[in-house]
Amino acid sequence: MSDVRNVIIIGSGPAGYTAALYTARASLNPLVFEGSVTAGGALMNTTEVENFPGFRDGIIGPDLMDNMRAQAERFGAELIPDDVVAVDLSGDIKTVTDSAGTVHRAKAVIVATGSQHRKLNLPNEDQLSGRGVSWCATCDGFFFREHDIAVIGGGDTAMEEATFLSRFAKSVKIVHRRDSLRASKAMQERAFADPKISFVWDSEVAEIQGDGKLSGLTLRNTKTGETSELPVTGLFIAIGHDPRTELFKGVLDLDGEGYLTVQAPSTRTSIPGVFAAGDVVDHTYRQAITAAGTGCSAALDAERYLSSLS
Ligand code: FAD
Repeated sequence: MSDVRNVIIIGSGPAGYTAALYTARASLNPLVFEGSVTAGGALMNTTEVENFPGFRDGIIGPDLMDNMRAQAERFGAELIPDDVVAVDLSGDIKTVTDSAGTVHRAKAVIVATGSQHRKLNLPNEDQLSGRGVSWCATCDGFFFREHDIAVIGGGDTAMEEATFLSRFAKSVKIVHRRDSLRASKAMQERAFADPKISFVWDSEVAEIQGDGKLSGLTLRNTKTGETSELPVTGLFIAIGHDPRTELFKGVLDLDGEGYLTVQAPSTRTSIPGVFAAGDVVDHTYRQAITAAGTGCSAALDAERYLSSLS
């Protein structure tokens, strides 16, 4: 049993690194799979982060994640920049298989694989991320004082983002590809009543313009095919998120939207010894600090679970 770890952590965003820090400081020698493409998680794709407590002047996203990584490593977390491609979580000893086919064994597993915001998949979208293009009003709204902003989407999230942004923006246009909204009636009514919010119906984004900074959108009417220009300096894409739970389908309990379910307020999943934290569980708050917070909870839950075994 000497090759059986105490805990394996899958994911390296704020949730994974915080779980790594806490389990490392508890002398549990965690092994962390960081992912092969985006080690460091979602904040590796952003610029300024102004709402992570402790950084009075803000911090660049990748710098924040490098700090978290180094802090976890300092206490002995072992980090591997690879993907987990298969899991067997059913027994007392869980197994996790990496991309080379090597099987790693542990008594506890913490899942912190995050979620992926849906993209429009247009040229310029990634290049202008953090330069006018955003997926999170709570994170970035403050940067858009007196800007003209477009919000893309027709669901509750789009209405919520638009209503929040109208506090800062000069104007907010909600661009929706149909002529009616999917959002709940209450959310719709709040958006309709907001004098700064207007709607562009039956329209989708055909082009994102800007060289180093967003300068406008080309919209296409979904009924007539006609195009028009929308000069905006802020674009918030609110068309949904996909939790990264492929590995866990049929293994752990998921909710109707595919997120892992936990026995809140704990981070326990449907299998003893398996815990989940961060955006892979959370479709409400989706913040770095909440992910870090539940990463801490998962580490403490895992620690207590491991103590109960001995
Ligand atoms: P993530 O950060 O998504 O990390 C998940 C990790 O799991 C990734 O590293 C991924 O590679 C890894 N992974 C997934 N599958 C596997 C696998 N099979 N094997 C191994 N690894 C795997 N929040 C704020 O509080 N303030 C902000 O200013 C802010 N700005 C943002 C800007 C952008 C552009 C985006 C996209 C998000 C922003 N957020 C911000 C939200 C914040 O980034 C997320 O809420 C937070 O990163 C979620 O943390 P997480 O640890 O749950 O997941």
